[in-house]
Amino acid sequence: MAERKIIPDEYIPNVETKMVTIEGKDYLMANDTMFTFYQRTKGEFSPFFKAIRDEKRILGCKCSQCGLVRIPPFLTHCPDCDFAPTELVEVGQVGRMNTTPPITYFATSMFLHMAPYGRGRVILSGADTAMSVNVYTTTGILVPGLIKKGTEVKVVFRDERIGEMTDIFCIPTSELTPEQIVKDGLQESELDWQAKVEPEIPSASDEDVAIYKDSLREMQALAAEMSRSESARKAIEGWKRDIAVKTKGGEFAMLIDNGDFRIEERKLESPDFVMVCEDPRTLLDGLAYRGAITDSVIMKKLWISKNFEFNTIFKLDRLARFLVRSKKA
Ligand SMILES: [Zn+2]
Repeated sequence: MAERKIIPDEYIPNVETKMVTIEGKDYLMANDTMFTFYQRTKGEFSPFFKAIRDEKRILGCKCSQCGLVRIPPFLTHCPDCDFAPTELVEVGQVGRMNTTPPITYFATSMFLHMAPYGRGRVILSGADTAMSVNVYTTTGILVPGLIKKGTEVKVVFRDERIGEMTDIFCIPTSELTPEQIVKDGLQESELDWQAKVEPEIPSASDEDVAIYKDSLREMQALAAEMSRSESARKAIEGWKRDIAVKTKGGEFAMLIDNGDFRIEERKLESPDFVMVCEDPRTLLDGLAYRGAITDSVIMKKLWISKNFEFNTIFKLDRLARFLVRSKKA
């Protein structure tokens, strides 16, 4: 496993000073530090997290008297049975959502790499209580309605596990093969994250082609303006993505390269991800800051092939916002 720090490097400020003005007076301010690392045990949850980490198994606790299986196994004695002892039992890795999970699109910086994700409660086979779990889809972006109360889901284990709840997540069984559904300890690398079903685009009329051509020209002009703007460039600093964009009237490439933003009318052989946007004006409006592209994704007007590229969509919205702001300044 690659070594990871509990505080990622990007959150550690540089050694530097700057001037700040407080109540009309100027002061020199320096970045400083205070260390507060600590360790904690998982206590009675230790067998549960250890089983996830080392054995890819999910444990619950079963009351020796009433037989109720609670998960996670947080009780050594059953409060309903005069504190009869419980024993650890393994539960199944397929279950049903017992709530419709809310979806987090805009996570805090610590969870940004995971967004968008749903967070819901699943009742696994063999368990009587629900377990909180993150839910994902392999079919592109996680949009409302994909995973609901009652949806059958399967537990998937991360390839790198350290004994945390985020070592596992659930995806709908409808996205898996029958073999994957019955296999215990299914890992994320066994899933086909690439096999997306691209939305079909209806054939284009002459008018659609004209709309596409106009939109493309406007987007290219905007992209050129963004590449020239110092502040807009900051929105895509250090970011590199080749995006294939398919619309009703035609296909083009959107290229992000560390501050540079270009739109070219050509097909990409191996794009980082695919964007399908039936009406190119949806994307144009987003880049022109007349509506957020993130909203278009959530409203299913714009489809992207990789869930985690929502991060890139977020950056495109910032790009549009930064350009507009820099013009006002
Ligand atoms: Zn009991």
